[in-house]
Amino acid sequence: MQDRYDPKSIEPRWQEHWTKKDLFRAGNRPGAPKKYVLAMLPYPSGEMHMGHARVYSITDVLARYARKRGFDVLHPFGWDSFGLPAENAAIKEGVHPAERTPRNIASFKEDVISLGISVDWSTEIATSDPEYYRWNQWFFLRMLERGLAYRRRAKVNFCPSCNTVLANEQVEEGRCWRCGSVVVEREIPEWAFRITAYADKLLEGLNRIDWPERVVAMQRNWIGRSDGLEIDFAVKGARGKKAFRVFTTRADTIFGATYLAAAPDHPLVQELAPQAKKAELQAFAEKVRRAVKEVGEGAQAAEKEGMETGIRVRNPFTGKEIPVWVANFVLAGYGTGAVMAVPAHDQRDYEFAQKYGLPIVPVVRPADASEPPKEKAYTEYGELFDSGEFSGMPSEQARLAIAAEAQRRGIGKPAVNYHLRDWGISRQRYWGTPIPIVYCPKDDPEGKGIPVPDSQLPVKLPDIDVKEVLTGEGEAPLAKVSSWVNTKCPICGGPARREVDTMDTFVDSAWYWARYLDPSNDREPFSRAQADRWLPIDVYVGGPEHAVLHLLYFRFWTMVMRELGLCAMDEPAQKLVTQGIVKGRDGEKMSKSKGNVVSPREIIAEYGADTARLFILFAAPAEKDMDWSDEQVQGQNRFLGRVWRLVHGSLPKIEGVKAGGAPDELRRKTHKTILKVTQQLERLQFNTAISSLMELSNAAMDWTGDPGSLREALEVLVQLLSPFAPHIGEELWRELGRTEELTLLHWPDADPALVVDEAYQIAVQVNGKLRGEVQVAASADDAEIRDMAARDPKVAGWLHGKTVKKVVVVPKRLVNFVVA
Ligand SMILES: [Zn+2]
Ligand SMILES: [Zn+2]
Repeated sequence: MQDRYDPKSIEPRWQEHWTKKDLFRAGNRPGAPKKYVLAMLPYPSGEMHMGHARVYSITDVLARYARKRGFDVLHPFGWDSFGLPAENAAIKEGVHPAERTPRNIASFKEDVISLGISVDWSTEIATSDPEYYRWNQWFFLRMLERGLAYRRRAKVNFCPSCNTVLANEQVEEGRCWRCGSVVVEREIPEWAFRITAYADKLLEGLNRIDWPERVVAMQRNWIGRSDGLEIDFAVKGARGKKAFRVFTTRADTIFGATYLAAAPDHPLVQELAPQAKKAELQAFAEKVRRAVKEVGEGAQAAEKEGMETGIRVRNPFTGKEIPVWVANFVLAGYGTGAVMAVPAHDQRDYEFAQKYGLPIVPVVRPADASEPPKEKAYTEYGELFDSGEFSGMPSEQARLAIAAEAQRRGIGKPAVNYHLRDWGISRQRYWGTPIPIVYCPKDDPEGKGIPVPDSQLPVKLPDIDVKEVLTGEGEAPLAKVSSWVNTKCPICGGPARREVDTMDTFVDSAWYWARYLDPSNDREPFSRAQADRWLPIDVYVGGPEHAVLHLLYFRFWTMVMRELGLCAMDEPAQKLVTQGIVKGRDGEKMSKSKGNVVSPREIIAEYGADTARLFILFAAPAEKDMDWSDEQVQGQNRFLGRVWRLVHGSLPKIEGVKAGGAPDELRRKTHKTILKVTQQLERLQFNTAISSLMELSNAAMDWTGDPGSLREALEVLVQLLSPFAPHIGEELWRELGRTEELTLLHWPDADPALVVDEAYQIAVQVNGKLRGEVQVAASADDAEIRDMAARDPKVAGWLHGKTVKKVVVVPKRLVNFVVA
């Protein structure tokens, strides 16, 4: 028996025990309902950061709690091991990424283990492993067959002095990261995925998943669906019948359109502008292109700028001639590349008109006939005036009537526009998945690309001499490896060249979570049986910075996987938790440059993993930012020390005593704590759950009554503490004379007789048949009762893979799930 709490002598021993007994293996309980708990795939930098430690502490509590609730739990791990950091380091230091990456993985993995994370390491994958990326290539070929992968031209950043394409991360304030030259824009061919074909599905699916409001809103905006009208404005005096097609969501304001705004590189502008203006227009277009690159596409340039083109068009409803301007806020890639400008009813058009002295003609006024403001645009719906036969109509009705009239006259049609763009995946990098395409001059004279047959996958990355190939100069690195580039054409067997670009690493992270189910399958990405057993992900935890790109791509990929018959669902993750950031000692976000980084290694070395975990989970609710506090770390360490002394100090009193006995104050406290912590865990309120455990430990500390009550309190305390602080939990459990595996031991139930007034039992039915019973707090509302019932392991088994059509809650009696 030790008097002093010494985590260093405890933690490695239990980590070894868990591994030896293989306690975290998914599939250990084939008959039990499943729970898939997942942390976002980490890039294997050499050391785990605090942000990582936070994510894994959260998923680990959930995984450990689910095991104790009787679930068969999948809590996997892997590495996002392709990518630019390893390649940039290779350019700078000459170390091959294939050499550095395994070292980084090994070191990071040690950190994960030393934090006591309950991972099933048999799932481990690394995306730079050919056995993983061959399936990226396989998916690419399936998408190519379905028209979902295609070749297009794209603009890229180019360094003229290094003569190389740069990734966005390699452009620093418009200059090359390596040599400092000004970066220019170039157009090159690239491969893209047609994610836009799924725009509506991606929108619609957001209604069916339990994700943070903020992420859902960001995805909606990113997809950016707008319904409107496409209508032609005929060009005056042009040979043939030329017209600018515009897209508008406010057809009701068309009588107020006093000019047209087109993208600077709109093809008709270049074609129809008077000769004298062409050079000036071209210079303007070039200037805008450069500015767009600096602020990023889609971002709003601060100052609206434009130029008159000399082209004139006819407003199809007023019949009046209006000028065409080019403007820096109209993007060629969005909609039709031109908009009708209605300065009286659009604030951006208003500011532009003010700046350049263009006419402002109001045609909509408030429905209550009040005077609209003069100093800004009136952008609300209202009632039309000065709008011909449509005058007097409300905007909603006029939008449709004007669209119908345009359609009748053959100059317009209803149209839907999206902000979402297709996903360009070509990267001029070495450390990524080779795109499985070859070019044969004989069979493919236009260079469209010939797919590599499945039987030749994986197309492996060639081994390279780093100093020769990863120089940061010249064409794509793979183009320099002639023994690899020159290959045989799969059609004619003659000489052909391989595609030298590699895939965006967002491809790797789009479906890794499904590969975890079946990581060594060499016939298919993963088996359907495993998919049906484990998918979808029940809880997905990661940083909010992935709200649009990763989280959108991974939803898109799932929809494609379903169409390929690989899985049954369209949405990969039922619940998403985005954890807040960990701030440094100075209250700023941790970053190397600020020198305020606290490393989990330091904390584990000084206080142990259990203290680190408890601090992380206690400092703030999972979704909120948290401040680093040395005092709080010490406070959690003292709490664990008190629990340690409490248990050891009590042993003489409780030896040979049975837990339980007559209901007394401590027993009631113990059972109320079970109830509370259970509900707090269900709601991911880890910080308040830890507070409840502190209260129970205080109550036990002062106890002078029945030793049976004390034993029960201590056993429960250790059990409830163990998902948060698993090592000390295991140690004290054995000290209490218990021999069961704590990892698999059932979560304690509150005795209803000891929590009267606070909770009651409720029957749970699925389609009218009794499938379980759950304990709910007396204070729970219908939604909470429904959630508790759905998360009960027995009930969850009956609901898995089904669509819940209706839930009936009869307070204090029953919940009935009606499923299809
Ligand atoms: Zn350069
Ligand atoms: Zn050929």
